[in-house]
Amino acid sequence: MSTSEELLEGIRAWVEIESHTPDVAGVQRLVELVEAEYRALGAETEHVPAEGHGDHLIVRAPWNDGRRGVLILSHLDTVHPKGSLADMPFRVEGDSAFGPGIYDMKGGAYVARHALGRILKEEREIPVTHLFVSDEEVGSPTSRPLIEKLAHEADLVLVTEPAREGGRIVTARKGVARYVVEAKGRPAHSGSRHEDGRSAIRELARQLLKLDALTDYSRGLTVNVGTFNGGTGVNVVPAFARIEVEARVPTVAISDEVQAVMDGLTPFDPDVSLTVTGGLNRPPYEKSEAIAAVFEAAKGFASEIGFELKDLATGGCSDGNFTAPIATTLDGLGVDGKGGHTDYEQLYVSSLVPREALLYRLIQYGGERA
Ligand SMILES: [Zn+2]
Repeated sequence: MSTSEELLEGIRAWVEIESHTPDVAGVQRLVELVEAEYRALGAETEHVPAEGHGDHLIVRAPWNDGRRGVLILSHLDTVHPKGSLADMPFRVEGDSAFGPGIYDMKGGAYVARHALGRILKEEREIPVTHLFVSDEEVGSPTSRPLIEKLAHEADLVLVTEPAREGGRIVTARKGVARYVVEAKGRPAHSGSRHEDGRSAIRELARQLLKLDALTDYSRGLTVNVGTFNGGTGVNVVPAFARIEVEARVPTVAISDEVQAVMDGLTPFDPDVSLTVTGGLNRPPYEKSEAIAAVFEAAKGFASEIGFELKDLATGGCSDGNFTAPIATTLDGLGVDGKGGHTDYEQLYVSSLVPREALLYRLIQYGGERA
């Protein structure tokens, strides 16, 4: 068993190294600390350099032997700019511990590191890999291929994103599709030659209403036109306009539906041309039968540890969206708390020991499946 003081002390060391995604030197310092901790436990480590980011770090148990085992997936970057630590230093008040990135997700990443550390010390010969990426908070542009490659080598993926709404873990996430729609019309003087103009803004205003109408809460589909730009001046019929569209899609089938609408967009005004670019950015993570079965097992472990484990589906994305189509994935296994991405970000100290124990059990469960 581990104690919450012991876990908090480890988390504190990680939180006090600031690691905003673009702060390459900061991320690198944290990578080195994590690597040193794991090396001291006898794990094998490998750095994967990432253009414009800190390194990604792969940690392997020494007895990986080609069996498809467990992949633990974490990120070391945060959304908090360098210097935030001065305004939100690590501190504990009652059951809450505060600090930049403590909830999303240094707390969960550390707790998993600790659980795997115990497994390494006990020499349980489980094929397990822990991947720490450095660019999750900006959409994992450089780590995605690595995440997918390691997911192919795994049977079970455990993602240490924060738990939510009373410790719930995540067994489904919506996918995200992003598009840019551009319209080209014809400019004209709005006073003397208005009739010669073809308004690109008017065209996209009509398209916007059409796309907006796709939102269907009952099916979990939302379509948001998040930006709208166009025009050059109030006295010119606008020849150019551009919107950015984001769809959150719960299933592959619904994602295909949205794609078909985007592929089929035709201008209302035949004198205006439209171009559509983009597509599915993160695939939907659906609660498959395999995921449901692993969740049942996790629930059983939690009740042995002494708490009730619940799950939920969320519209937010994580790297779990990349692994779920490849290997059975449980997400939201990190610490409970609140205020991710804010200056009051906090974890609940009382969640540390149970979460560590659950990860310890799940890693072993993954080993038995391998
Ligand atoms: Zn996160």
